[in-house]
Amino acid sequence: MGEHDTAGPLVPERSARRPSVQAPWEACDRDQARDEGADAPAPPAPPVCPRCGRRCERRPTYYGAYVLLEPDIRRPAHEVPVGHRWYEDSDGRVWNGNRAEPAPGAHCLVPHRVACPALVLLAHRAEAGPD
Ligand SMILES: [Zn+2]
Repeated sequence: MGEHDTAGPLVPERSARRPSVQAPWEACDRDQARDEGADAPAPPAPPVCPRCGRRCERRPTYYGAYVLLEPDIRRPAHEVPVGHRWYEDSDGRVWNGNRAEPAPGAHCLVPHRVACPALVLLAHRAEAGPD
């Protein structure tokens, strides 16, 4: 490039993006976070369940969301309901196994939402039907 070249950089700087414009993948990331229950408050907020107030283990996902997990609990994956099996990688990030059959002997993390007393209470009320 010459000294008088007026062309800008090939890739716009991140700060050039207007905050109101979404990157194409951001909607997919939000949908995935909603579907998988990765709705934990992000740091620096405390890792506390907004429904029951219990302090949980918070882990980042690969799509920038956070999930609340039951602290220090690893269970055989086949004992955890489908869609709630979270696996951790060596960097601390977690991913949801979705509907995939767990590997023999695999263990997984348990999301707080399957043990949350507030959600369990709501489920019992729903099963009981209208008052
Ligand atoms: Zn809770």
